[in-house]
Amino acid sequence: MRTQPSPQRRVLIIYTGGTIGMIKNAKSGTLEPLNFDNIQRHLPELQEFDYHLSAHQFNPPIDSSDMRPALWARLVNIIAEHYESTDGFVILHGTDTMAYTASALSFMLEGLQKPVVLTGSQLPIGVLRTDGKENLINAIELAAAADDEGRPMVPEVCICFGNRLLRGNRSTKASADHFDAFASYNCPPLATIGINVNYNQNQILHPSGEQRFTPHTELDNSVIAITLFPGIRPQFIEYVFENPDLRGIILRTFGSGNAPQQPWLLNAIAAATEEGKVVVNVTQCDAGAVEMGLYETGNQLLKAGVVSGGDMTVECAVTKLMYLLAQDLDAEEVRKLMSTPLAGEISVPQCETL
Ligand code: ASP
Repeated sequence: MRTQPSPQRRVLIIYTGGTIGMIKNAKSGTLEPLNFDNIQRHLPELQEFDYHLSAHQFNPPIDSSDMRPALWARLVNIIAEHYESTDGFVILHGTDTMAYTASALSFMLEGLQKPVVLTGSQLPIGVLRTDGKENLINAIELAAAADDEGRPMVPEVCICFGNRLLRGNRSTKASADHFDAFASYNCPPLATIGINVNYNQNQILHPSGEQRFTPHTELDNSVIAITLFPGIRPQFIEYVFENPDLRGIILRTFGSGNAPQQPWLLNAIAAATEEGKVVVNVTQCDAGAVEMGLYETGNQLLKAGVVSGGDMTVECAVTKLMYLLAQDLDAEEVRKLMSTPLAGEISVPQCETL
């Protein structure tokens, strides 16, 4: 389906940092962060949009390796503050942790009814072969796009990169150097961008009429993600699992959710579960889902109290767990919700039980 964005839509661009915001100083030839207060002066192409563009800048801009829950809360507050007066949001972000931010925001911006489009680039916007201009222009276009009745085309948290619009909580950074840096292995793109923007209407989520926009700023980061590997030392696992401050564990298992059937691991998981810790199983594979009922190894994990993360990315599982642990829920409710889709992050209800 093709749509013409309606004129004079209002888009807020939030620059957090990352490669995209760098521009060459004409005199010294060095790369410096762009002043986003004057974004249209620096990027005259943007004047061709018939939108009202405004900008908000993190000061100082950060490399996205420094992204953290307090800054996600800041993004939520900025969006909430401008929510009524803005049609769509573009977040410029370093690519390295963009998938974590997109995942976190998809839960923190509950009942979102407007597009929040994250983008960045592999080359600074101020260098000749940059992918930044195209990504930024596409992101603005998608954040502003509305149907004939003025309703936003994609009222979700998304990542726009390399001519595709991906659901944020399904995305992962897949390449450190290709312009097509992001992949969404378990969910098709929400839109592809060519001469026209082709929306994948069947995939796009629209909140129901009764859902109200409810921003959340609290996250509990008492979580850890552990990648299993052959030869992992029991003492290290036990040391981490026994930490009294730990509330949630993302276990990155093999294949369709398998782990060593060693008593030390199963006992450590069972003890942690008993103490009210939430243990979630996600696969180390890029594509596909955890199915613990499939092999005896997975079955043992189920018995020890592990819950299925289905086909969630690790970025999504970590941030979803932080979000749920900050809600007023008991461990059993958190376990149940980890396997339940809240924002399109998991393909089917993963209610694997014994
Ligand atoms: N290190 C940078 C960052 O994630 C890379 C980038 O912007 O793409 O902030």
